[in-house]
Amino acid sequence: MLKDFNFKKIIQGRLFKGDEIISEITKILKEKSINSGLISGIGAVTKAKIGYYDQKTRQYMSKEFCEPMEILSLNGNVSLKDGEPFAHLHIILSKEDYTTIGGHLFEAVVFAFEFEIIELHGIAYERGYDEDTGLFLWKS
Ligand code: ZN
Repeated sequence: MLKDFNFKKIIQGRLFKGDEIISEITKILKEKSINSGLISGIGAVTKAKIGYYDQKTRQYMSKEFCEPMEILSLNGNVSLKDGEPFAHLHIILSKEDYTTIGGHLFEAVVFAFEFEIIELHGIAYERGYDEDTGLFLWKS
């Protein structure tokens, strides 16, 4: 399943200390009616909740890390879920000892954060329940 999109524009911005990344990004997507796009960002967090999808139990496991960490990479996409813009984001974080952790991003509290949203023009993917995986994947 492939779709063609055209490049529309890039929004570049920052969030502030104490902001929560998922909710702030979602707010921007809704305000600007961005239904398709790509997201990237770097910075630092004071806390993050990341997940790992257990393919056997079909459940997300999640863990909260409450410590200062660098965002080495935050990456994701924008599509529609229940008719609303939805950001699916993954993150790689580094700790004080330079080791990294990563996963599906559930929540992250900003220390500093710079990001880009690349808005695409086209017929947005819509997420729906996928029987094969138990995930909400792009259906149409
Ligand atoms: Zn994910």
